[in-house]
Amino acid sequence: MMAIRIAIVGYGKIARDQHVPSIAADPRFELVAVSTRSPDHGSGLPCFPEPAQLFEEFRGKLDAVAICTPPTVRHAIARDALRAGYHVLLEKPPAATLGEIEDLDAIARETGRTLYTGWHSQHAAGVEKAREALAGQKVAKLHISWLEDVRKWHPGQEWIWTPGGFGVFDPGINALSIATRILPEPLFVREASLLFPENKQAPIAASLTFAGGDMRAEMDWRFSEGEQWTIRVETEAGRTVELRDGGARLFIDGEERALGKHGEYPSIYNRFAELIEAGASEVDREPLRIVADAFMVGSREITEPFA
Ligand code: NAP
Repeated sequence: MMAIRIAIVGYGKIARDQHVPSIAADPRFELVAVSTRSPDHGSGLPCFPEPAQLFEEFRGKLDAVAICTPPTVRHAIARDALRAGYHVLLEKPPAATLGEIEDLDAIARETGRTLYTGWHSQHAAGVEKAREALAGQKVAKLHISWLEDVRKWHPGQEWIWTPGGFGVFDPGINALSIATRILPEPLFVREASLLFPENKQAPIAASLTFAGGDMRAEMDWRFSEGEQWTIRVETEAGRTVELRDGGARLFIDGEERALGKHGEYPSIYNRFAELIEAGASEVDREPLRIVADAFMVGSREITEPFA
């Protein structure tokens, strides 16, 4: 089979750190071009400042596009890519709004192209085993703790603080992408408290309470003692399933389980190749739906400016 010729749109941190090496390591893909506005981005590949130029110039020489821009500009780029006949991999979160992802899903169906929402945390080593351990169970408790230092993880990323930039939900949606994958029932936001720095348009911390038993999530970007990315589930039957380190470690009833070693992004590209091969799409909007719901029912509090 000929390699899937792919281009990256938005050549920033995640494109360089994860997409480029994962594509290079997978013989089913060949990275042929990029679209990014910075002339000095350093990919060494043909580069187009406008995605539309790339789609036009590479007609017949390109099969797929990985969109790694911030979320607010993603819908128009993905729409144009699908309409130009390319398969599309969307970085998380797949769009800025539910309306946008709905539209992309419809366009992918119309055009018969693959659309894949690549939630990388769903590919963490412990997630599928956690899902299996919870299948058919009734959940009594859910505690999500997603704490990290925004200065360490997002230095200089101004877009993240703008409307549609998600704020603390940028990492927090990773936790929600795992929770929605492993829990046997859907989550509904009952209450949310969103903390906004006085000078920013996106929250620095959020507390969510979900319908049901003792079900909650804490997300905070002001945590400076390393990071805590933990999801703990207790079932009515008394079983505990805990994912730590963003899903890389799994504990069942307090005992750590051995997990195979696999990277999140290589696993995303594996799935993308499978979907293209099968002529199918996979569009998971649940994590985005929960963030949207939190903004809809959430109360807003103001805290000190972030500098
Ligand atoms: P980033 O470093 O800021 O890179 C995004 C790139 O998109 C920029 O380098 C920029 O390149 C391009 N871009 C196009 N339109 C833009 C616009 N209107 N504003 C700003 N940049 C624009 O961000 P990132 O960390 O790679 O994150 C990109 C996406 O990946 C986000 O949705 C994020 O949630 C996701 N992600 C990030 C990480 C991480 O660890 N950083 C991990 C997993 C997922 P030009 O200026 O050259 O156009």
